[in-house]
Amino acid sequence: MTGKIYVIGLDGIPPRRLESAVERGDVPNLERAMDCVSGKTVSTNPPLSMLAWSTFATGQDAGKHGIYNFMLRDEGKYTTHFPSYARLRSNSTPLWEYLDAVDVGSGVMNLMPGYPPSRSKGFHIGDNVTSPNGSSFIHPRDLSEEIEQEVTKYELEPVTSYSRGKSESVLQEYLDSLFGMEQDRTEIGKYLIQNKDCQVFTYIFLGPDSLQHSLGHLLDENHPEYNTELAEKYGDKFFELLSIYDEFIGWLMEYMNEDDILMVLSDHGHGSVKREINLNSWLYQNNYLHFRTHPWTKLKLFGYNHVFEATKYTLKKSNLLNPIKKFLTTREVNDDDDQDSDSSNTDTNSRDLKDMLTVSHLDYDWSSTKAYTIASGGQIFLNTEEKHEEGWITTEYERICNELVASQSGLEFASGALN
Ligand SMILES: [Zn+2]
Repeated sequence: MTGKIYVIGLDGIPPRRLESAVERGDVPNLERAMDCVSGKTVSTNPPLSMLAWSTFATGQDAGKHGIYNFMLRDEGKYTTHFPSYARLRSNSTPLWEYLDAVDVGSGVMNLMPGYPPSRSKGFHIGDNVTSPNGSSFIHPRDLSEEIEQEVTKYELEPVTSYSRGKSESVLQEYLDSLFGMEQDRTEIGKYLIQNKDCQVFTYIFLGPDSLQHSLGHLLDENHPEYNTELAEKYGDKFFELLSIYDEFIGWLMEYMNEDDILMVLSDHGHGSVKREINLNSWLYQNNYLHFRTHPWTKLKLFGYNHVFEATKYTLKKSNLLNPIKKFLTTREVNDDDDQDSDSSNTDTNSRDLKDMLTVSHLDYDWSSTKAYTIASGGQIFLNTEEKHEEGWITTEYERICNELVASQSGLEFASGALN
């Protein structure tokens, strides 16, 4: 291999929005790159970032690399855990591990799952989704300090989060911190390219995905919560964000040598979310999932049905929902990483606490439950004897699968519901 390879991943770019950006003249460098070779990529099924980037990294589908969602089931059990880079490596081999084996340095920034970072030759900066706050998500460890001294601090995620319903000042703060963070990362990216002895650089920017999650209702005139006034003010933010990456790509094109290769790709498109369905509720209503009759379970169900939404709304308003969710989410950490052993204990405790306090697998009557789900993304698990500690389904597997496919394919929202 003579030249260097630069891979720039922009998370969640729908081709139609990229075309609009080109037409508006916001991304002249991307346009120049597209004139060379370009095409529409096919995402994974389902098209989720965690799964799609894992497939990009390993060239395998979820059946092989095992990262099938943002939440994974513990083998043989009903408990769950977060995906991790260690899990990805245990089932498959990310590209830079191959490079490592032949002594070729590579640099990875922000590809999920990226925690705990690989001990590879070169550098590996973890992603904001799987790296716990306060963890050492940068390898080698002294690189963190070097980046801060030479460029600026590497922030794991924007300081402020925004979702529709919050005030405009929060939206403004979120945009400032997101744009600032992404701008900083392009500067950090430039520094690492110029100063690290790597043959392959892979940088993923999650900004476009994050921004469309937050502003999706302002980018789609048909969204029920579309707001003309706000859309006029913030509708171009997506394109402004793209121009930050475009400037970086332009710099890279000037910096590159004749033999070098540049690839820009995305992991999936993006649409606005108008309605969501809670599959476990549907499974319960349709007799696939049953609850225990224990008083504590009844109390939790009462809380879920009557208090949960109100509490969630209050926490969201007060910006506490995301920190609490993050605390209650379990992560896998590297066993040989003694620095992180404390966070491992916290994770086990927080998982038990979450399962005890919220409606969870502890509340299901497994002797009669046929099917359940653990996360968004649509995967339904059948309570099979083979793969579950209290499973009982054996020969009926195919029949129940077909039944679920048939009934879910026919799902419709009640009349008068939003399209
Ligand atoms: Zn994505």
